Amino acid sequence: MAHIVIVGGGVAGLTAAYRLRQRQPEIRLTVVDQAPELGGKLRSATLADLPVEAGAEAFLSRDPAVPQLAADLGLQVVHPSGAPAAIALKGRLHPIPAGTLVGVPGDLAALAGLAKATPEPVTHGPLLAPGADISVGELVRARFGGEVVDRLVDPMLGGVYAGRADQLSLAVTLPTLAAAARRCDTLVGAVRLALGTPTGPATGLAAGAGSPTAAARPVFGTIVGGMTALVQALAEASGAELRLGLPVRELARTPTGWRLVIGSTRSPEVIEADGVVLALPARPAARLLHEYCPAAADEIGVLDYASVALVSLAFPGIQMPEMSGFLVPASEGYATKAVTFIDRKWPHLAAPDLSLVRASLGRYGDERVLQRPDGELVDLVRGELADLLGRELPVPVDAYVRRWGGALPQYTPGHLDRVRRARAALDGDPTISLAGAGYDGVGIPACVRSGTAAAEHLTLH
Ligand SMILES: Cc1cc2nc3c(=O)[nH]c(=O)nc-3n(C[C@H](O)[C@H](O)[C@H](O)COP(=O)(O)OP(=O)(O)OC[C@H]3O[C@@H](n4cnc5c(N)ncnc54)[C@H](O)[C@@H]3O)c2cc1C
Repeated sequence: MAHIVIVGGGVAGLTAAYRLRQRQPEIRLTVVDQAPELGGKLRSATLADLPVEAGAEAFLSRDPAVPQLAADLGLQVVHPSGAPAAIALKGRLHPIPAGTLVGVPGDLAALAGLAKATPEPVTHGPLLAPGADISVGELVRARFGGEVVDRLVDPMLGGVYAGRADQLSLAVTLPTLAAAARRCDTLVGAVRLALGTPTGPATGLAAGAGSPTAAARPVFGTIVGGMTALVQALAEASGAELRLGLPVRELARTPTGWRLVIGSTRSPEVIEADGVVLALPARPAARLLHEYCPAAADEIGVLDYASVALVSLAFPGIQMPEMSGFLVPASEGYATKAVTFIDRKWPHLAAPDLSLVRASLGRYGDERVLQRPDGELVDLVRGELADLLGRELPVPVDAYVRRWGGALPQYTPGHLDRVRRARAALDGDPTISLAGAGYDGVGIPACVRSGTAAAEHLTLH
């Protein structure tokens, strides 16, 4: 019976294990993770005895990957209230204008009062050449000017990646916009095409392109019972043996398969395997691969990561604004970069007389604030929140701080080519595959798809 070892028990690794089990019911599977708990960045916690997420809180539900997986596992998906989100600017909370794609506008008139956009220069031919990549900031600055980047796009990307628009790859962070930019000669037209809204003559494409039915479906969802329910269901359905609290420190090819050294240096353990899925972040994956395939290791080892901290607070006896939350542009000078009003966004988590708030801190390249002790972070967030909302806030009845060091991949332009080259370097080997956020996208759906693809790679050969 074949033995496959999955290194990394995040959502990508667990999906790979589950898909391998579906394809080969008799297979022996082992998931090894250095953390004492499964799930990686998916981790449910409690705040004032209420369930909250300490890591990822939602997934894109227009993408069928997670809803389908949840249905297969018998889990229920719930959608947010649809309360609007805002941008904090100069002492006001401005609703995020409709018709934007991660802050990139498809209608410049909708930006009034928020950012001044320059008229688009005339371009003959598509904005992006086939196969080319560019940073989101570079493209949007060239088409609409700097204010749109600094006040809208940068905070939106910062909320997801803790990264900066001027460094993040368009092809990875906004793939539908990159595809549209390869067909359109204006950015307004490309955004509309990517959003599936009727396009005008400016794009040279037929009006009504895209799918209006897709636009009607809820955009996001989460798992009833929390993300940990998804983690547990995947682990159970995979039937894998779970080896937790054990880092994988060495990986070597043998004539018949693989040899992994796991555990501490003082009491190492050797595991033999016929196949391996590397579903850990790219840098530690590169260290494991270095002996066997330096070419692949060099390609993936350059990926840098940003660190973030989430501070969740439970405030008694007050009501937060009727919105799901807001983003804070870096130029506003606060450490807080995003705020979620948890019970406004997720009505199934509402509790009488409590307002639950989650603030996110940490921007790529400026992460000093994360070194402060928990109590200081709680006070900092409470003070900044009071300032941003323009009101006094009571002492929270409970607070929860969770730090995620080196957590969010910073995909720079050319990332997809580097991943393609790394996979090509490994491609001759049907017994190893790469999965997870380091390669195919940071979102949970991308990680689920990459876990599925890793399982297919090992079983198709
Ligand atoms: C704070 C935060 C909020 C987020 N919010 C969202 C959101 O709302 N929606 C969304 O779609 N995405 C969100 N994301 C992104 C998403 O959660 C992650 O990209 C995704 O969960 C990554 O899954 P993964 O399996 O690739 O990696 P991980 O979850 O990072 O799992 C990798 C595992 O590998 C283990 N590991 C590392 N090194 C070793 C080693 N040497 N040996 C053994 N094990 C090792 C780690 O312990 C870890 O468990 C968020 C991320 C963060 C950090």
